[in-house]
Amino acid sequence: MGQRRPAVGTVTDGTAAMAATEPRVVLVTGGNRGIGLACAKAFATLGDRVAVTHRSDPAPEGVLAVRCDVGSAESVDAAFSEVEAELGPVQVLVSNAGATRDGLLLRMGEDAFADVLDTNLTGAYRVAKRAAQGMLRARAGRMVFLSSVVALTGSAGQANYAASKAGLVGLTRSIARELGSRGITANVVAPGPVATDMTAALGDERLAAITAGVPLGRIATPEEVAAAVVFLASPGAAFITGAVLPVDGGLGMGH
Ligand code: NDP
Repeated sequence: MGQRRPAVGTVTDGTAAMAATEPRVVLVTGGNRGIGLACAKAFATLGDRVAVTHRSDPAPEGVLAVRCDVGSAESVDAAFSEVEAELGPVQVLVSNAGATRDGLLLRMGEDAFADVLDTNLTGAYRVAKRAAQGMLRARAGRMVFLSSVVALTGSAGQANYAASKAGLVGLTRSIARELGSRGITANVVAPGPVATDMTAALGDERLAAITAGVPLGRIATPEEVAAAVVFLASPGAAFITGAVLPVDGGLGMGH
C-alpha cells in the first residue's frame, strides 16, 4: 500500500501486476455509456487521470469529458489537444467507440457498410495515430482496442460490424509490430455479448439465442470487460502485445 507503481512501459518483475502506481493519463473513446463508461470508472478508481470522449449523453462526473466524433480526424485531433492541455499527453488509449447498423448482406446498403467501417475501424486508426504522437515522444504507452467475438466467428446480419472488428485485429497487430521497440503495446479485447444499449437493441429473442451458445450461460457486465482492459494497461501486462483477449464466457473458443 502506498507504493508507487512504475511509469507506463517500465519493465517489472510481474508482481506489481494491477497494483496502484503513478497515475496515468487515460483516454477512453465513447466513454459516456456502456463498456467505455465502465472502463473510465475502473481507471478512475485506480487513481488514474481519466478523460472520455462523448457525443450525445452527458459524460460521467469525476472525469474530463471532451466532445469527439471518431469519424472526423479534426474532431479527434481537437479532443486530444484538449486532453493534453488539461491532463497531459495520453499514456493509455482505450479505443472503444463503436456502432452497429445490422442487416442481411443483400439488404445492406453501401452506406451502412461504409459507416460502420468508418466508425469502428477507421475511427480506431484515427485515435491510434493521434495517440502515437505523444506515446512515441514518451517512448511508452498502452493502446487497447475493443473488438468483438464476431471478428473471428462472423455474425449473420453483421457483415459490416464483423468486418470492422476483424480489421481491428490487423490494425492492432501492425501497431504492435511498428511501435513495440518504442515501449508501446497494442492489444485487443474481444467481448462476447455484454449488457449495454448495443445488446438491448438486439431484442430479447436474439439475445436469448446468443446467450444459449455461451458456455457460462449469461452475458457479461460492462465491468467484466473493463477489468480486462485495465489489466492490459497495467504494469503486469508490460510484455503482452498484439494479443487478442477474449472476454466472452467461452462463446468464441477455438476461434
Ligand atoms: P454502446 O452502444 O453502449 O456505446 C457506444 C459508444 O460509442 C457510445 O459512447 C457512443 O457515443 C460511441 N460512439 C459511437 N459512434 C461514435 C462516433 N462516431 N464517434 C464517437 N463516439 C462514438 O456500446 P457498448 O458499450 O456496448 O460497446 C462499446 C464497444 O465494445 C464497441 O466498440 C462495441 O462494438 C464493442 N463490443 C460491444 C459488445 C456488446 O455486446 N455490447 C460486444 C463486443 C464488442 P454516443 O453516446 O455519442 O452515441
